[in-house]
Amino acid sequence: MTRADWYAQHSGGGWRTARTAHRCDRVGRDGLRCMGRMAPGQKYFDSNQHNQRSSSQWGTIKLCEACANQEIQS
Ligand SMILES: [Zn+2]
Repeated sequence: MTRADWYAQHSGGGWRTARTAHRCDRVGRDGLRCMGRMAPGQKYFDSNQHNQRSSSQWGTIKLCEACANQEIQS
């Protein structure tokens, strides 16, 4: 399964089209944040999970297309 599938099952996220530029919110096991970026008009996956690093209480974890499509262990 892909990371997008995992989030869709666990928190009901979905694919969105970016309206503003945004950096991918995924943080790897090594603690480093993904360097992927979403430009306006690009597809990204919104996990629908609250991002505790976000300054906004409504901020959710957003994944770049590469992270969302990455195969993970289920
Ligand atoms: Zn990413």
